[in-house]
This record gives sequence, C-alpha cells and structure tokens, in this order.
Amino acid sequence: VRYADGKGWYDARVEARAPISVDPASAVLHYAQEIFEGLKAYKMADGGVAMFRPDANAARFAQSAQRMAMPQLSEGTFLQSLREMIRIDQEWIPQSEEGSLYLRPFAYASEVFLGVRPALEYLYLVIASPVGAYFSGGVKPVSVWVSPDFTRAAPGGTGAAKCGGNYAAGLSAQAEAIENGCDQVVYLDAVQRKYVDELGGMNVVFVLDDGSLATPPLTGTILPGITRDSVLKLAQRAGRKVAERPVSIDEWRDGAASGRIREAFACGTAAVITPIGVVKSPDFEFTVADGGPGSVTMGLRKELVDIQRGRAADPFSWVHRVL
Ligand code: PMP
Repeated sequence: VRYADGKGWYDARVEARAPISVDPASAVLHYAQEIFEGLKAYKMADGGVAMFRPDANAARFAQSAQRMAMPQLSEGTFLQSLREMIRIDQEWIPQSEEGSLYLRPFAYASEVFLGVRPALEYLYLVIASPVGAYFSGGVKPVSVWVSPDFTRAAPGGTGAAKCGGNYAAGLSAQAEAIENGCDQVVYLDAVQRKYVDELGGMNVVFVLDDGSLATPPLTGTILPGITRDSVLKLAQRAGRKVAERPVSIDEWRDGAASGRIREAFACGTAAVITPIGVVKSPDFEFTVADGGPGSVTMGLRKELVDIQRGRAADPFSWVHRVL
C-alpha cells in the first residue's frame, strides 16, 4: 500500500515477492525512517489457522509510526493485509509444534528527498515466511551477554518503538555476545548502566523464590512486548504476584547466588518463552539456578502455547481465527 501526503493510503495490491527499486535519494536510506512488526500465524489443533493478538501488533505499529513521525495506517488495513497474506500462503504454514508462518509488516519513507524532515511518501508492505524454533536448541536455556559498553536506547529515544534503527544500534553488541559464546545480548539502562532493560529481541522476566514475577517497567527505553504482556496477564490470573519494577544486574547476580531469583526467561514472538541459563560479562559469569529450564518458566510456556494453538481455553480472546 502506498502513501502520499494529501492523498492518504492508496494502491493496495498483492504481488509476487520481488526486489523493490529504491532511488539512491530515498529518505529511508539516509535517515532510517522505518518501522515494523513481527507476529505469527499458527496451525490450530482443529486444523484451522489463527494469529495471536494481531490487534496488539496493530496498536504498537501505530505507536511506532507516531514516534517516527510517520502516517497512521488504520487497524482495519493492517489486519486485512495480514489475513490476505495468510490466505495466500496457507499451504506454507508448517504443521509442526515449533513451526509457524512469520509475518513481517513494515513501512518506510520512500520519498526521494535529501532534506531532514518527515517524508511525504511511504510504502507499507507485508512479507511472510515459514519458520521453525528461533533458537537452535529449541527450549534449551540460552546464554546472555551483558554488554559493558553498548546501550540500546536512552530516555527520550526510540526504545519503545519498533524501528529498524534500534536494531542497527544493537548489532555491535549482538556481535560481541556471539564472540563471547552467548546467544543474545542483555542491555542495561543507558543512564546508570545498572538496571536490566531487555535482550536484543526479547523482554526479560524473573521468577522469585516466592513464585512471584518481576520484570523491568515500560519506561520508554524498552519495547512493550506482546508476549511480556500476555505472560504477566496469565500469571496474574493464576494468582501470581507480578511486579513491574527495575531489577539491577547486581540483584540478578546476588539473587541467582542466594536462590532469591529462581528462574529467568526471555519472552518474545520469535522465542516464545525461553529459559535463560548463563549470564556473562567481562567481569563475571553466573548461572541462573542449576542452568536448566525452571518449572515456572516451562509452565507459563505451555500455558501460552496451548492458548496459541487452540488446545486450551482463551480467557482474554487473544486468538484471532483466519481460516
Ligand atoms: N524486545 C525487543 C527489542 C524485540 O525486538 C522484541 C520482539 N518484537 C521483543 C522485545 C518482544 O516483543 P513481542 O513479544 O511483541 O514479540
């Protein structure tokens, strides 16, 4: 779908995937005015196909657009574009337990203009691809690297928006994590370099020894994850206490040693819920509990996946049937 100032969104169409021609002076290439979403369509237990909370992705897309001075796409157009992709690609949706059709809606500034101001022309597209488990080990605990130097987002920045620039800013830290034998980077807050913000592509949740959950608050520097929100709602509904509060890296390290922090997990659309086993930095290395998947983590994972696949009741009406 195209957008032009004064005309609005127009020219919605379905085309076979092919390269897009981009002018060298396209605004996005220079100023990174681009936003995206990521969600999955699943094969359900009864053979149908559903998306999980696509309305929440639509709302976040709208917030990202606002932060990046981009035009709003209606929720109706966003959802319709996803349903259309699923209908076209239905034969490609994996049947397997870990498999799904990953949907990537995105929009970028297509105007040919080198001045620095919000562009007047945009393109919105959706691509889709069958995917398997995000981490090669499936739900095996992952290791994370606490970047000593790099931050992802500062107060007042774009941390709460899902924009390409945030990920570009994180690539050096992610490369450092891999060089140090870790799967993902953990970002600390940009101001005090003390509190856990999130991982490269996932939010972090801690399970305390009293069975309660703690997770960093949405103060504008982390992405408001839809999986994070779903986990907190499911836990609260089951009577667990949930605290959205700052958790320092020292609290994590000391808590892992004393048993106060019993489990930690990463959560996001791609990884669903994945236990965190080892935490490394240039100064220390520690293991969360025995480094194996914790029972609360795996219980929440099962509960969430069962709702997504239509094997359990859907108390919050999260499952959006398409086929
Ligand atoms: N944080 C970051 C930086 C991410 O890229 C993602 C993945 N979108 C998440 C958290 C988790 O968000 P969600 O649960 O909506 O996928």
